[in-house]
Amino acid sequence: MANWLDATVLENKHWHPNLFSLKVKTAAFDFIAGQFVRLAMDTADGRKQRAYSIVNSPGVTEQEFLINTVPDGSLSPLLQQLTMGDTLQVSQPASGFFILDEIPDGDNLWLISSGTGIGPYLSMLGTHNLWQRFEHIVLVHSVRTVADLVYRDFIEQKQAQYPGMLHYQPIVTREAHSGALSKRIPELIRTGELQAACKQKLDNRSQVMLCGNPAMITDTRAQLEALGLIKNLRRKPGNITVEQYWK
Ligand SMILES: Cc1cc2nc3c(=O)[nH]c(=O)nc-3n(C[C@H](O)[C@H](O)[C@H](O)COP(=O)(O)OP(=O)(O)OC[C@H]3O[C@@H](n4cnc5c(N)ncnc54)[C@H](O)[C@@H]3O)c2cc1C
Repeated sequence: MANWLDATVLENKHWHPNLFSLKVKTAAFDFIAGQFVRLAMDTADGRKQRAYSIVNSPGVTEQEFLINTVPDGSLSPLLQQLTMGDTLQVSQPASGFFILDEIPDGDNLWLISSGTGIGPYLSMLGTHNLWQRFEHIVLVHSVRTVADLVYRDFIEQKQAQYPGMLHYQPIVTREAHSGALSKRIPELIRTGELQAACKQKLDNRSQVMLCGNPAMITDTRAQLEALGLIKNLRRKPGNITVEQYWK
């Protein structure tokens, strides 16, 4: 059974009306980059709790979450309204196997996300382990609008810190944006446009993590399998490791 830590809101940064970063303070706890916790609030309809990936890297007591407001959702609209000083609860321990320890070695590591699925990768980018293990890291972020391209300063900072190692490729599907691709990820992989834009190969010597919405994950996985990549299992190591945010 989960234990719960009290958390106080330090900041709620609204990137746009349906996307926000919630920063909370809790007692210190351990987690591995890529893991998630549950956030909980008590409401007139009872307790609401949902899973959220931790965006910050381990070692700090301020925890950050990137959250999309689901308009008819039970919890995310409530989290969106929180302001500094409000309280909520954070589950313990952090959970999940979407972590670098589960990823076999490879020639390069593709971190492919849609929407808020970039969260766990931001946590990984802040760890030493990632840069020690892979020479080339490709961060792909597919979103609808330019306003969804979050944490760009942080990503640029990492590119400057590790020259030539981090290839960042935004994909914006509903607006034109300089430097961004605009088609769906599976199509971009099928045609080779994504690999060409990132100047990285994507084959059975690559490791690929997929995080975000179910359609992106199902379709991208099928496309990767067509290229000869296979799902990564503990009992049978492969190339594709997945975290799906909803069904
Ligand atoms: C391991 C894990 C990690 C997660 N991490 C994050 C995260 O870092 N950030 C985040 O925003 N969400 C994340 N989610 C999704 C999150 O747990 C909730 O499902 C989401 O916030 C909706 O909750 P709700 O109570 O507002 O809506 P609900 O009433 O639970 O759901 C309404 C419906 O909205 C759809 N839905 C669920 N999540 C989303 C979404 N993100 N965008 C669009 N539609 C959605 C589903 O069809 C769902 O049935 C994660 C889920 C899992 C399983």
